[in-house]
Amino acid sequence: MDDVIDSRLYFIRIDEMDKPVRAGKPYCTICSKLALDVGVKEFVLLHEQGVCVYDTKEYNGISFSFRTEIFKYAFL
Ligand SMILES: [Zn+2]
Repeated sequence: MDDVIDSRLYFIRIDEMDKPVRAGKPYCTICSKLALDVGVKEFVLLHEQGVCVYDTKEYNGISFSFRTEIFKYAFL
């Protein structure tokens, strides 16, 4: 597992035609937490604005705050 320390993780979703799909806001806390825990340094997503490199700590924080937003709306 040591070889993932300080690595950069490129995440991309593809559609049924194998075409890249642009990502929305990070929301999956399972992936973000796992990446952070194993020592991945950066998480890369393709957004509407282009390729975006996140520090994994920042990425995990954004993912968790997205979840908080959902809960906030759910309890309004
Ligand atoms: Zn995930």
